[in-house]
Amino acid sequence: MTTTNDLKEKHDVVIIGSGCAGYTAALYAARANLQPVAFEGIETGGQLSLTTMVENFPGFPEGIMGPELMEAMRKQAERFGARFVSGEVTSVGLSKRPFRVVAGEVAIKADTLIIASGASAKLIGIESEKRLIGHGVSTCATCDGFFFKDKELVVVGGGDSAMEEGTFLTKFASRVNIVHRRDKLRASKIMQDRAFKNEKIKFIWNSVVEEILGSKEGGVTGVKIRDVNTGEVWEKECQGVFVAIGHTPNTKIFEGKVELDEKGYVVTKGNTSFTSVPGVFAAGDVHDIRYRQAITAAGSGCKAAMDAEKFLEEHESE
Ligand code: NAP
Repeated sequence: MTTTNDLKEKHDVVIIGSGCAGYTAALYAARANLQPVAFEGIETGGQLSLTTMVENFPGFPEGIMGPELMEAMRKQAERFGARFVSGEVTSVGLSKRPFRVVAGEVAIKADTLIIASGASAKLIGIESEKRLIGHGVSTCATCDGFFFKDKELVVVGGGDSAMEEGTFLTKFASRVNIVHRRDKLRASKIMQDRAFKNEKIKFIWNSVVEEILGSKEGGVTGVKIRDVNTGEVWEKECQGVFVAIGHTPNTKIFEGKVELDEKGYVVTKGNTSFTSVPGVFAAGDVHDIRYRQAITAAGSGCKAAMDAEKFLEEHESE
């Protein structure tokens, strides 16, 4: 592990983030001999470090554990000279090149910057959810739905994500119960209709999940649901809980410095990783509200590193 003391004053490429996008950007930049430095942030390995088996990352016919995949990506980048610093970037100065990247007490300069700080799935915020994530509690139906063949599931949320995930999960589950805190959905009409028409989906209105029952060893066995109008609490048996209440892009430190959309995602130009600031690139979930997959994040990390390399060729260091 590189410590902040080992850092030079200025680097060609600095990467913020250590998920699939950040690690792939580091690998490509390192192989281009740019000796990238990546700040890993508080969640080393990104969202995949919170999952268990990953079955849809090409190249692993038997699947691979999320943390193992991330460790392998990191090692692969290190082999070519990428360096990883455990630390969270606390502020950035992007008004002129070289950019300023500050992590606590440390400040370095970067000729190019790749923002790969990801997005975090919003959680309900209860203790049992934190304890059972990856053990029957998930925030990604595409990733984990397959593990719930013929099982009964609970999906929390009332937006497009909850409808999409709920509908997708009916391919596997025997029943999907969508628990929503109001009596009206936020989801678009078309997604609502699709969910209403699906015979495997049942709605539990005006309700919140108060506790998820189960253990790490045995998985989820049920949930405690509270009716927000009457206060009544009851137990529902289920074998999995999918929390689909939205994502938050990790872009707080870029507010007012790089163009963000109305939801806070970094805006990229066309089919490139270019942001509104020349020399600053974005990759992965921090700019992608639509796909949010490990493989698409990895692909965009590759694009960002290639864009940074080309940018450095075309622009003298200042
Ligand atoms: P969203 O639109 O913000 O909806 C979040 C839902 O979760 C809302 O129904 C909200 O309830 C509920 N919620 C929020 N916090 C909660 C909490 N603490 N406890 C219980 N429920 C909570 O988020 P999203 O569904 O992820 O969608 C985000 C954006 O992506 C939207 O623009 C959406 O259209 C887009 N999207 C599009 C597609 C598609 O077109 N295929 C798929 C997915 C997402 P309230 O309604 O009461 O606020």
